[in-house]
Amino acid sequence: MNYYHIARESLGFFPTPLVALSKLSKKLDGPTIFMKRDDNTGLALGGNKTRKLEFIIGDALAKGADTIVTAGAAQSNHCRQTAAAAASLGLECHLVLGGKEPAQASGNLLLDKIFGCHIHWAGANRKGEDIPDIVEQLITQGKKPYVVPYGGSNELGALAFVEAYKELESQRKSMNLSFTHIIFASSSGGTQAGLMLGKKAFNSPCQIVGINIDKGETDKVPFDQYTLSLANRTAKLIGADYEFSESDLILNSDYVGEGYGVVGALENEAIALTAQTEGILLDPVYTGRAMGGLIDMIRIGVIKKTDSVLFWHTGGAPALFAYSNDLDFAQKF
Ligand SMILES: *Cc1c(COP(=O)(O)O)cnc(C)c1O
Repeated sequence: MNYYHIARESLGFFPTPLVALSKLSKKLDGPTIFMKRDDNTGLALGGNKTRKLEFIIGDALAKGADTIVTAGAAQSNHCRQTAAAAASLGLECHLVLGGKEPAQASGNLLLDKIFGCHIHWAGANRKGEDIPDIVEQLITQGKKPYVVPYGGSNELGALAFVEAYKELESQRKSMNLSFTHIIFASSSGGTQAGLMLGKKAFNSPCQIVGINIDKGETDKVPFDQYTLSLANRTAKLIGADYEFSESDLILNSDYVGEGYGVVGALENEAIALTAQTEGILLDPVYTGRAMGGLIDMIRIGVIKKTDSVLFWHTGGAPALFAYSNDLDFAQKF
């Protein structure tokens, strides 16, 4: 495994903290729960995309780009962190966002605007279908655009989570911990592919369990196939001799509910419980759903009291402000 020749731009603060959620664990009468605080990566209110962007923006700079283009939902955490990274490096940033412009910008969208990026509203095309046209226009204007893939989930983005695994291993050892499961929100596949590769590279016995957030597909390929192929392509990139098969991919799709970004009782309970026992904010779209999944798996006995869980907090809390109407518990006083 060798990736130290790959360009990287420092954008965040690492290592992120690894903390015990002993009160939540007690409340659930459940297993030991630790949390990896990637909501504290430091770039523009943090999140897992900061790790990916260190390698992806590193590549953009190495290739002489002066303009960054990426896509996502209107409340995309990925787009917000990309906008901040671009601003910090003096790069022009174009975001292609799904839906249409709301009457008032809040949450991540407000932050995108504060970072001064150009926003293109794409209607139903929230996964970057309109990017080729925009790139062509930018080239005509004499710019050197660089496209950051949807969710930052290419080999460079996944590589960041091999590096993150290494960071976790070093904390785990110095704190004398062991984990049976690593649980996190999985949506465009980069986090999961990188953690799968990290598990192999560090010969770790724990299960890497992605909680599926989106019914959809990435690059027109079903999500599980995309993630598996990304793990294999990333292994090649770093010269690791692994071939992942379907049995290596644990993707739990039981909690997708009504689909991407549709907040229900599961997310409401998880957000309230984590905030009110631990003083930690989850987000409505990703970590609220993933924690809701973990809570349910504890209740139905899929995860046992004797297990030891690491919940990887991937960020996203800025979206809370845009979802206040869906957080029923917080509206009832
Ligand atoms: C993007 C994102 C995820 C999912 O990560 P992927 O690598 O896209 O699967 C999870 N949580 C939050 C808060 C995110 O912004």
